[in-house]
Amino acid sequence: MFQVSVVCSACEEENEVVVEQLDDVDREVCPCGYSYVVLSVAGFEPIHAQQAEIHHLPHRPRLPKAA
Ligand SMILES: [Zn+2]
Repeated sequence: MFQVSVVCSACEEENEVVVEQLDDVDREVCPCGYSYVVLSVAGFEPIHAQQAEIHHLPHRPRLPKAA
């Protein structure tokens, strides 16, 4: 599943569509009749979430030494 931000190629109406495959975005059309252009894609697959968390390790600040 993908959540895709799109904008119309004619009237610049922005929209969000959820599709099974990215190719399905081609079937989505603006009410004005023109096709959308993809702005950004957010994947819902769990693999992407796991990879994102690896880079999110907590960083411990150094504690000053007590004399
Ligand atoms: Zn349009």
